[in-house]
Amino acid sequence: QAVARTRADLKELSRRMAGQVPDDTLAIFDVYQGMLDAASMGDAVENMIKEGWRAQTALKYVVEQFVAQFEALEDSYLQERATDVRDIGQRVLLHLQNRQRKRKPLPDNFILIADEVTASMLAELPRDQIAGIISLNGSSNSHAAIMARSMNIPAVLGVDDIELHFFSDRLLAVDGYTGEIYVDPPAQVLTQFHQLAEEEQELRDIVTEHSHLPAETQDGQRISLHLNLGLDVTHDYLKTLNIDGVGLYRSEIPFMMRDQLPTEDEQTEMYQEVLDQFPDQPVVMRTLDVGGDKPLPYFPLKEDNPFLGWRGIRLTLDHPEIFLIQIRAMLRASIGKSNLRILLPMITSTSEVDEASRLIKQAYFEVAEEQGCEVGVNLFQPQLGVMIEVPAAIYQLPAMASKVDFFSVGSNDLTQYLLAVDRNNRRVASLYDAYHPAVLASLDEIARRCEEIGKPVSVCGELAGDPGGALLLVAMGYRQLSMNSYNVDRVRWILRNVRSSTLNVMLAKALQARNPDQIRKMIAEKMESIGLGGFVRAGK
Ligand code: PEP
Ligand code: MG
Repeated sequence: QAVARTRADLKELSRRMAGQVPDDTLAIFDVYQGMLDAASMGDAVENMIKEGWRAQTALKYVVEQFVAQFEALEDSYLQERATDVRDIGQRVLLHLQNRQRKRKPLPDNFILIADEVTASMLAELPRDQIAGIISLNGSSNSHAAIMARSMNIPAVLGVDDIELHFFSDRLLAVDGYTGEIYVDPPAQVLTQFHQLAEEEQELRDIVTEHSHLPAETQDGQRISLHLNLGLDVTHDYLKTLNIDGVGLYRSEIPFMMRDQLPTEDEQTEMYQEVLDQFPDQPVVMRTLDVGGDKPLPYFPLKEDNPFLGWRGIRLTLDHPEIFLIQIRAMLRASIGKSNLRILLPMITSTSEVDEASRLIKQAYFEVAEEQGCEVGVNLFQPQLGVMIEVPAAIYQLPAMASKVDFFSVGSNDLTQYLLAVDRNNRRVASLYDAYHPAVLASLDEIARRCEEIGKPVSVCGELAGDPGGALLLVAMGYRQLSMNSYNVDRVRWILRNVRSSTLNVMLAKALQARNPDQIRKMIAEKMESIGLGGFVRAGK
């Protein structure tokens, strides 16, 4: 009953939010519903109850186990899922305890402050009254941050060393760009904030109004914008986006939301949903990129250097049964369609490409025969791509060219491996920077080498959806960028407002700069001078 009541709450929250945030953001509630499903936490709790535990104890135990599993992951996005699990657990517990929650009347206009602001907290509160968010814990990867962004609420997350009560009943102004919080600001600062907020809205309206137009520079350079997908893959909202395809489907994400490996049939269904969603556009499905910062909860790995260890293609080639099942499922899902592309993560050597290709071919012929498909008629051999994210792969581009159809640059990992900075280690977080001149030089080098060998190349790391990053990448010659849904229309608008000559000047300066700060400053100044400053700071 408590679970049913929680489900009803979530439905109600989702209904209330509909129309206020994009549908793909709303999908967070589907994820919550999924966590309550039997296959996730439900079964585990039920089993403990059957063993004689009290429901509350069983729930607490299972939630803590899930939370610990997520927190042990080094991927910061997945770590944040621990918050979702805790939130769901608390909701069910509340119903189990049958406690009524008392609520203070809310002011007309307030800044939400909590130890940890959660996505459902945001959903429960009236959107029109939330002026800003301050979360003492959390990061820009949390669902609350993602929701805040799509609800256009300025948010500051991860405010260390300040007590919650310090902010109580004070006048506050929050700048989500700089992460600054003004306490009891003077009148002129407040007036300025009001004006900036108005300008932000004007900018958003402009971006949305132009979402139907092609992404091209003023001198007619057309850029393909693609979508990065992982968690919430089948929302109608995604169909309405003006994109050219899916540039990265992170297949490991659904694997991590379960408590055992999905079967071939289950995977087939999962992939079918994604391919059906974009029937006329290419969908790049990356094979499992687990290990390192993304171990599967049911496949524990203990390594001293997990990022340099058994990760991505290394792990799946050592477990060809896992790899084959996944490829077979992708191929079965693609029967009657021609939009499947396969992408291999963490490639270091050509032998890995050879081995993976051999297994893909084997799966292809097996599936064709078993399913009675006509090769090349209703079952197509998918194009194969390799991720360029291990620096060694840059020097292997010519050697790999004849073996693959395309390359995709994983700038997130390329940054961490090139700079030797663990992308999730807080102590060295300030050293991890995709604007580092060495990272930009290597991205430039990759673009040039791919041009020379005549292979299509895209970028699917976070840099592709970053306003300044997207401009530099286009200047380098990248014509395909893959990013999350929030950034698609922003990047389109930015591109429509620049000329290639401007981009070339920016790139030349960036490549000569000595450090990331110089590059950031130069980009901000340039964007400001061409009327795009609103994408790198508050206001229009
Ligand atoms: C990357 O490394 O840039 C990438 C896109 O893959 P992930 O972030 O999933 O490692
Ligand atoms: Mg990567």
